[in-house]
Amino acid sequence: MTTSGYAMAAQVRARELGSRLALAAFIGFVGWILAPSIWPAVWIVVVLASQGADWWLCRDLRRAPEQVPSPAYKIACCVMASLNVVVYSGMTGYLWFYGGEEGRIFAMIQAAGGLLHVSLHMHHTRALLLSAVIPHALYFVGLPVATAILERRPAELLITVGGLLYMSHLVVAVRQSSATTSGLQAANAEAREARHKADAASAAKSDFLAVVSHEIRTPMNAVISAANLLRRTRLDAEQREHVMMLIDAGDVLVGLLNDVLDFSKIEAGKMHLEQAPMDVRARLTSLQRLWEPKAEAGGVTLRFDIADDTPDGVVTDALRFQQILFNLLSNALKFTREGEVTVSVAWDAPNAALILAVADTGCGIPEDRLAHIFDSFEQADVGTTRRYGGTGLGLAISRRLAEMMGGDLTVTSVVGQGSTFTVRLPAEAVVMAPAQDKARRVADAGALRGRQVLAADDHAVNRRILSLLLEPHGCVLTLVENGAEAVAICQTQVFDAILMDMQMPVMDGLEASRGIRSSGVNRDTPLIALTANAMDVHRAAWDEVGAQAFLTKPIDPVLLARTLAEACTPAVETDELVQAA
Ligand code: ADP
Repeated sequence: MTTSGYAMAAQVRARELGSRLALAAFIGFVGWILAPSIWPAVWIVVVLASQGADWWLCRDLRRAPEQVPSPAYKIACCVMASLNVVVYSGMTGYLWFYGGEEGRIFAMIQAAGGLLHVSLHMHHTRALLLSAVIPHALYFVGLPVATAILERRPAELLITVGGLLYMSHLVVAVRQSSATTSGLQAANAEAREARHKADAASAAKSDFLAVVSHEIRTPMNAVISAANLLRRTRLDAEQREHVMMLIDAGDVLVGLLNDVLDFSKIEAGKMHLEQAPMDVRARLTSLQRLWEPKAEAGGVTLRFDIADDTPDGVVTDALRFQQILFNLLSNALKFTREGEVTVSVAWDAPNAALILAVADTGCGIPEDRLAHIFDSFEQADVGTTRRYGGTGLGLAISRRLAEMMGGDLTVTSVVGQGSTFTVRLPAEAVVMAPAQDKARRVADAGALRGRQVLAADDHAVNRRILSLLLEPHGCVLTLVENGAEAVAICQTQVFDAILMDMQMPVMDGLEASRGIRSSGVNRDTPLIALTANAMDVHRAAWDEVGAQAFLTKPIDPVLLARTLAEACTPAVETDELVQAA
């Protein structure tokens, strides 16, 4: 421990320069009182000069404490430390010889104090410590010895003995302090190392998740899209049922993948919320439309009760708002065999908060499990996964999201009678201007007829799926296999919209998009990312290259057609990035 020891000593010395100079002024004043002469004043001037030189010499160590000082620099620091002590304690000698009895007592106390001071502040580096301690010790022990010899007063040697005793105690104390400091530094270094390892592990986990997510989404896109295409063909009842099983299982897998990604994002503190006006009733209506068929199929009534005083609009993160309610509704319908599921919405005006309660008449949750269902990977009982599927992540994510939005998510339940999940979301009420909420955006699917669409994707299966999905809408599709081909064709042929994959050989989608945006006849053509890279960083990267929308694989055929139609319809606002994960 030598290198940073010099820097540490330099920093401590800089910090205490003011008090050292103030003390010097006091000592000089005492010297002048006890033995008036010009010397105390001269001493002060010399002290100022030597402290200034020390300050100047140590400036590099203060500026860059991590740099390793050269051997010559270390020697200079040690010489400077000795010089400073010799000068500073010069007054000790003056007081000893010319200050009378009081001067001697003062000199000894000052020498002992100085010794203590440098021992505590310079013990980080042995060479520095010795350079500062030796001159002090010489004053401390040498002055009484010199007097004993010069003035033939052997009794003075007793002071030397006292001084030696004092120094032996000091050595023990300094050793102790040194050991404590070293222990502390070792513990700090260990903590730093552990933190680096944790950061590296977390980065590796994120990379792993990104790769796994991409690799699973790509084949899943083929499976789900093919199943969706198959559903549109002429099938008998049994075949249709099998295709629906494929589609349902695919949807569960996508949900699972999204849950795992969301959960790890929240855990890593990387989930960022948006704040924008949201049309409360429009959002709830779209959720109702989404879940009604499932409720009907299960013989359960789905009701939405919205209190009259609920504001039309609130400022919140609409995507996450929808995600929480989606999870709660999905659970309520999953665990309710008969009866009803009610979504009640109220406005807590004094606290400016939306209160949303999802109540069901389902199986209920045993009291001893209630506290645990919000923990990750927890289900009310072990048979749940077997009977209903699921991972136990939905509620953990929903509660964390509600908390991040400044609210909470609570539950009450009675086994056999049902459960009520209540979300409280503080939000500012706003008046909605027409079309301010993305849920209001509509575009005619017929808008795709005759539209020239360029799609870049390196997988042959994906290209085939795109043509099977889009050509029935009347799109004229141009398919290319990588970014470079997309950039080349964009130089000459005008398109109404461009669908761009992210990872492609030769040139990836982001680079190609930059190329298309920088020159050629498609600089302003709407560009839609259609990718298996579903993480936030990817979304942000697409945002940066000016993509108008970000769609993830597996492709949702309805969403794809709607997004493309919106992109191809100039009348519809085109400046927002459609959040569609
Ligand atoms: P998952 O539904 O994927 O298992 P959740 O975190 O959404 O995960 O739910 C955790 C558990 O809480 C469920 O497995 C279930 O046992 C219980 N649960 C959640 N909602 C309800 C409900 N409405 N009725 C009964 N049990 C529920």
